[in-house]
Amino acid sequence: MANSLETALYVVATPIGNLEDITLRALNILKNVEYIAAEDTRNTAILLEKYSINTKLVSNHKFSEAKKVDFFINLLKEGNSIALVSDAGTPLISDPGEILVEKVLEEGFKVIPISGANAAITLLSAIPRKKEDFKFIGFIPRNKNQIIQTINENVTENLIFYESPSRLLQTLQIIEEFYPNKKIAIGRELTKKFEEIKIDKIINIINYYKNNTLKGEIVCMLYADKKTVNENLTSEIMKLKKLNLKDKEIAKILSVLFEINKNDIYELCLNIK
Ligand code: SAM
Repeated sequence: MANSLETALYVVATPIGNLEDITLRALNILKNVEYIAAEDTRNTAILLEKYSINTKLVSNHKFSEAKKVDFFINLLKEGNSIALVSDAGTPLISDPGEILVEKVLEEGFKVIPISGANAAITLLSAIPRKKEDFKFIGFIPRNKNQIIQTINENVTENLIFYESPSRLLQTLQIIEEFYPNKKIAIGRELTKKFEEIKIDKIINIINYYKNNTLKGEIVCMLYADKKTVNENLTSEIMKLKKLNLKDKEIAKILSVLFEINKNDIYELCLNIK
């Protein structure tokens, strides 16, 4: 062993855009471990080059993670220390590493977190919110019913999610249809040159991005609301289901009451048991 680091898996947070957002401790670990397990070695190579770090990089892509586990465990058994990094931010937060960390613990080795950047927490640190707590769900589902269900189930939470720029407008339109009064915070390209943070009603955000650049990486926080009869369609559907009304009848009634398309409510009914 060439260094004085304790044999362990070091889970190292790397920048989410600005390459200066990395701690001295993280750089020291990356420099002194024997191996770096990286989600994408080409991506991590850029960071290593900036800080003149020559540590051996090994790929730990999400599709090959299960197959690579034994390889990394053997390295630890031989007394090597390993740093786990992802393409951006903190590993295991919507990023690979779960399988490796679980196995490393199972085998009795230490897992040492080296804290640093994370897109969700970066956004949270820059937006005011009356309610301190929040719920992080990683990437929001793509399917319309699942989006509505996710929002319905979390109406009273500050709900943080990741979304791609190509889907953001469509996702916001779906949410706005059911929750026209919701407020949202959007963090785009955080820590980078074209960083943008916007807080507004969803409809205003939709209109803004219809006329302005919508590129790069995005994290959102949908503000918590008090549960109201009008906004909690799910609970209304559940009540009517208990009266043994058919989904089509429920959709017809609620579409009149809520002024929402009856087919959309019907689809939602199908997902609620
Ligand atoms: N592990 C990362 C973390 O700690 O934030 C997140 C990895 S996840 C695969 C990547 C997603 O995080 C992006 O698609 C985007 O939604 C969000 N994200 C990453 N960097 C971002 C940035 N600079 N600004 C806004 N969102 C970002």
